[in-house]
Amino acid sequence: MLLAHHPEAWAQLRRPTREAPLRILVSGCLAAWPCGVAGDDNGLGALLADLLRLPTVRALPFCPEQLSLGTPRSLPDIHGGDGVDVWAGRARVLDEHGVDLTEAMKAGAAAMLAFAQAEGAELAVLTDLSAACGSQVISDGCRLVAVRRHQKGVGVATAALLAAGLPVLAQRDHRSLARLRAHLTGAAPVDDGLLDHDGLLDHHEHPWVREHLPGPHPRAAG
Ligand code: SF4
Repeated sequence: MLLAHHPEAWAQLRRPTREAPLRILVSGCLAAWPCGVAGDDNGLGALLADLLRLPTVRALPFCPEQLSLGTPRSLPDIHGGDGVDVWAGRARVLDEHGVDLTEAMKAGAAAMLAFAQAEGAELAVLTDLSAACGSQVISDGCRLVAVRRHQKGVGVATAALLAAGLPVLAQRDHRSLARLRAHLTGAAPVDDGLLDHDGLLDHHEHPWVREHLPGPHPRAAG
């Protein structure tokens, strides 16, 4: 499930301890791996560093694209739907040159799921906007165009993880990440009113998303 759309599900997430930390699957670039298409961390490596260093966390970094396509690589984007549609055969993944990367993206996603299951991951925090790791918003077709289009939806790896029952958060789900921090540190559950006051929004609550991508997330019900 997309945890940002299901705040009631926080009660089901195991309270970790130092002895039994929460096993969190993390997009490699969020763990400062230089696994982005250009060989850097997409500028994200420091974003969650303090959270991932908490003694109640065991971070499990993985990059599905690096595994199947290598780094550096061309830029994959989904055409004709989102990651769920890719698995259903309704959409394809193409790079900026029109090369079909669909099967490689599915192989990377399957490897990420196998890794998550082998390590007993209990939650995933993934990089939004990616054709593999996106969960709230992804590109609608190639992003290297004059006017980039976006869509609500999930990436190819995220679709596989969700289908296997792993809860997923995006790095832009700031409200949910505040809840996660409280969960990990043993603090009292965070009051939604305070989060509103602090302007901490999940990605689907952001004014840009509300204005440009109105309507429900197609995978929010799961
Ligand atoms: S595929 Fe995922 S982990 Fe790899 S660079 Fe893209 S967003 Fe980061």
